[in-house]
Amino acid sequence: MNPIRIDLYSDTKSRPTPAMRRAMADAEVGDEQSWEDPTVNLLCEMVCTLLEKEAALFLPSGTMCNMIGFAAHCRPGDEVILDRTAHPIHAEGGGPAVHAGVMLSMLEGRRGIFTAEQLRAALKSPSVKLPPQRLVSIEQTSNTGGGSVWPLATIREVAAVAHEHGLSVHMDGARLLNAVVASGVPARDYAAPCDSVWIDLSKGLGCPVGAVLAGDRDFMDEAWRLKHRFGGAMRQAGIVAAAGVYALEHHVERLAEDHANAKALAVGLADVPGLALDVGEVETNMVFFDVAGTGLSAAQLGDRLLAEGLRIGGRDGTRMRAVTHLDVTRAQIDKAVQIVRRVVREQR
Ligand SMILES: *Cc1c(COP(=O)(O)O)cnc(C)c1O
Repeated sequence: MNPIRIDLYSDTKSRPTPAMRRAMADAEVGDEQSWEDPTVNLLCEMVCTLLEKEAALFLPSGTMCNMIGFAAHCRPGDEVILDRTAHPIHAEGGGPAVHAGVMLSMLEGRRGIFTAEQLRAALKSPSVKLPPQRLVSIEQTSNTGGGSVWPLATIREVAAVAHEHGLSVHMDGARLLNAVVASGVPARDYAAPCDSVWIDLSKGLGCPVGAVLAGDRDFMDEAWRLKHRFGGAMRQAGIVAAAGVYALEHHVERLAEDHANAKALAVGLADVPGLALDVGEVETNMVFFDVAGTGLSAAQLGDRLLAEGLRIGGRDGTRMRAVTHLDVTRAQIDKAVQIVRRVVREQR
């Protein structure tokens, strides 16, 4: 039996629902590499409509969306400008260096969000001595920034500065739909200033696999070549794409429940002596908190919680991250707060 009863480690831990599995089993399929899979084609059309882009590509993972995005926009030696907390820097196995050969220039944003002024200050006059600055990448929502939502105005300002200087803009939209549900801003508005944008199906949307990258026709033609080169072209992929179609129809609006649960969790944890967190900073489905005041490290507290059947992420230092998702109920949130409170009290 799985000893983890409440899993707040990540929204990747959600499992496909019975209805999603039925949609997968019933999917019409064909050879995806020849655009003959009707379910993959439907999913791509849905994402084109959602993001108001010309073309879209079904890929196995968000990591591959970032790598293809970087490689399609840049040549080796080019520079990508992104926040210092960005996922490709910390969680993609060095992929930007290996697969796109790019230099990374990091900005010090606030909760993963940098400003147009910061971008402008990082731009340099072209010189043969410098790596050509080619791409700006933004993460909506910012994961390590705390699930923070990039304001639409900031995205527009950053993109305007980038475009003015001939740089393209890529959006890592792993949790773009969380931002949409939290803010009420349509996905197409967030996507409009960006030259490429992708959404993850395997995070809050609850699919077992997949992500969809979108952009204009020329960019996506190049992306398609890279998908093939990286070994991401599939065959009867409609079986997995069907989960994405199902999720876009049934699992978007419900993200509001995850956000409400995250808020409730934050309120509960903020009341536990020894934990530090700002409830006002919880905008979507992530709750970051600091455990220094308990006398335990994040790893130590994490292990003690795990022994009680509750999994919360955090191995380094004293910062922990709890993420709500489809498989987490309000009752589990209340239980999770009780467990944390008891474990921390026993330590003190
Ligand atoms: C999870 C994640 C990715 C990578 O997506 P996978 O589907 O896990 O490969 C990229 N960016 C962010 C912000 C993420 O949270």
